[in-house]
Amino acid sequence: MSKYWSHITKRIEPYVPGEQPRSTSVIKLNTNENPYPPSPKVLDAIRQHINEDLKLYPSPTADDLKQAIAKYFNVNEKQVFVGNGSDEVLAFSFLAFFNPGRDILFPDITYSFYPVYANLYGLNYREISLTEDFTIPVEQFYDAPGGVIFPNPNAPTGIALTLESIERILKHNREKVVIVDEAYIDFGGDTAVSLIPKYENLLIIQTLSKSRSLAGMRIGFALGNEQLIEGLERIKNSFNSYTLDRLSLAAGKVAIEDVDYFNETREKIMATRERVAKELKNLSFHVLDSKANFLFIRHDTVPSKHIYEKLKEQGIYVRYFKKMRIDQFIRVTIGTETEMDSFIQAVKSIVQN
Ligand code: PMP
Repeated sequence: MSKYWSHITKRIEPYVPGEQPRSTSVIKLNTNENPYPPSPKVLDAIRQHINEDLKLYPSPTADDLKQAIAKYFNVNEKQVFVGNGSDEVLAFSFLAFFNPGRDILFPDITYSFYPVYANLYGLNYREISLTEDFTIPVEQFYDAPGGVIFPNPNAPTGIALTLESIERILKHNREKVVIVDEAYIDFGGDTAVSLIPKYENLLIIQTLSKSRSLAGMRIGFALGNEQLIEGLERIKNSFNSYTLDRLSLAAGKVAIEDVDYFNETREKIMATRERVAKELKNLSFHVLDSKANFLFIRHDTVPSKHIYEKLKEQGIYVRYFKKMRIDQFIRVTIGTETEMDSFIQAVKSIVQN
């Protein structure tokens, strides 16, 4: 600890991201990226925008990208906010909608960036335990003192809530903002976008990192009531008016518009997930019911840490979390069919030896 650090620097426990190995020869199933490349149309758009205009600042209002998102979701442009990855949109949302001294509620097994943002901004929070079967106990999110945030589907469990359950949380928190982090919604969950006209306290956050294969470009967005979006714009313009660069703006627009490619790749991932889940169950794995591009799995007898380490020795990266209760599991991103064949082969020899 340095004597020069501010009280905030001393207080925070930064998020530890999953490993990003330098070698490209590994099978990378540890950070929920899409195994398929971005749409060819996206790559064309990026190439076209590599020109002298890069000397100019990008649009601070990102109108073209917002228009494409608004059209896709059938909402008004003023109901769309864009940021540098959904991590940034999440960070801005904590600052825009939550207040010190009033507990924010989120599940105790969830995206581990939430407590990091809360600590960064000096916000209090309460973690609500998941039920025995790892689902979110909806009633315990009623009347939250400071607001609510949860991913749907949840991460790292992959389990999704129904829209009916989400609506109950919204109804019981009319005076507080409820943030639904839909990073993985395109792999089988139901988006809550249709609830926006009914609930002015609903903020939905999505990303182009997963279902649109653009983790490397860092594009996230929020959808919600115009006043919530205006709040996010106020925060953003107090940090950096130009959050998205010219290439990201161009790529994001085309990624949203190329619906055929999006559907083709996400359907392949869902089919692979179902096939892999079945094969893992045959190998005595307990597999949570996932609506995401990953599986959260535990073997009957072989400890998860051992499986994680043995896989890594063979160049297959999966995610192991040290935190209690989830340390019994590993999280496996759904890769291509070939990558998953190699994973199954490797895991089979580990659990059968
Ligand atoms: N929310 C959840 C639940 C996630 O797992 C992730 C990815 N780690 C994010 C948000 C952030 O994604 P990105 O910043 O790439 O949009």
